[in-house]
Amino acid sequence: MKAPTPSKLAYVPFVSVDNMMKLILRTGIETTLKELAKYIEDDFRRWELFDKTPRVASHSAEGVIELMPTSDGEVYGFKYVNGHPSNTKEGLQTVTAFGLLADVASGYPVLLSEMTVLTALRTAATSAMVAKHLAPKNAKTLALIGNGAQSEFQALGMKAIVGIEHIRLYDIDKTATEKAMHNLAGMNVTLTACQSPQEAIEGAEIITTCTADKQYATILTDNMVGAGIHINAIGGDCPGKTELHKDILSRSDVFVEYPPQTRIEGDIQQMPDDFPVTEMWEVITGKVKGRTNDRQITLFDGVGFAIEDFSALRYIKDKLQGTDLFQQLDMLADPDDPRDLFGMVQRAK
Ligand code: NAD
Repeated sequence: MKAPTPSKLAYVPFVSVDNMMKLILRTGIETTLKELAKYIEDDFRRWELFDKTPRVASHSAEGVIELMPTSDGEVYGFKYVNGHPSNTKEGLQTVTAFGLLADVASGYPVLLSEMTVLTALRTAATSAMVAKHLAPKNAKTLALIGNGAQSEFQALGMKAIVGIEHIRLYDIDKTATEKAMHNLAGMNVTLTACQSPQEAIEGAEIITTCTADKQYATILTDNMVGAGIHINAIGGDCPGKTELHKDILSRSDVFVEYPPQTRIEGDIQQMPDDFPVTEMWEVITGKVKGRTNDRQITLFDGVGFAIEDFSALRYIKDKLQGTDLFQQLDMLADPDDPRDLFGMVQRAK
């Protein structure tokens, strides 16, 4: 695996938030989402060869801190991420993250990157890539419920990858909807601010729920969801945090990333352990069918899995080639004699 021209192996390329933003703006957000979705889809196709484990979570009353590791045998990656729904009241993000890729052969890190922005991109790219496989053909209208940090990325992913033209927005906090409407203005989609979730889902073929609340919330009730819809539920992503009434789950065909993680964290935590789900990689590889008819309700219970972060870091690493959008971090000790770590410290006096 080639690192972006490090001057020494001991220097680790680091992508700051500033450089991440420059990289995205140079590429264009919609192009970034499309390219990223391709990397994620490629890794879903080789799903079986990855090391997989549910993320390692440390819960508190305020939120959760998680580590998300995986490896394809050549490259190892992990993400550190938090989820703290009340943070925004203090002017802090609900979700922040950073991540790392390492060369399996030497164990040396080859990339360290901010992943707060990258997580929003990879979540939107995953949602849209999944919707491309499951949503009704020619879906044009998206209901976007929860208009916080993830929402505009979600909207543009569905536009760029699925072809969404109309977005109906709802949030319990009107200022969040106003912010999202402002950010999405001029992006070639029509926008409608709605007063209730019921109003938001009128005429929508795809419903995205991306709300943040550390509780069993019911953003959608059973009577709201008609036949043929695709639901992209990404906000319920840890134990004790759900968005959908369980009757919706009973009526839907539910698609997930990695069942051992989703059964703990997803909306299906409300269902019995043997509740039937389909793994998304099986749909993508053609092993099983996704949508089979136009009355079927498909539901992606997306909690975010380590392989998507691995794909995102892999994408960023490739995009860095030939750019100056990284710094070289002096992060690894590099004594001339590998066994003389002590001598190296002494010589620094
Ligand atoms: P955020 O705090 O920036 O925004 C959440 C929004 O939800 C807020 O504007 C809030 O007012 C709104 N909201 C809360 N309850 C609501 C309700 N009942 N109806 C309508 N709106 C409601 O959070 P964010 O960064 O946008 O993240 C949203 C959720 O997505 C979080 O729970 C986060 O953990 C989750 N998330 C999931 C993934 C994934 O891969 N599945 C990735 C990133 C974030």
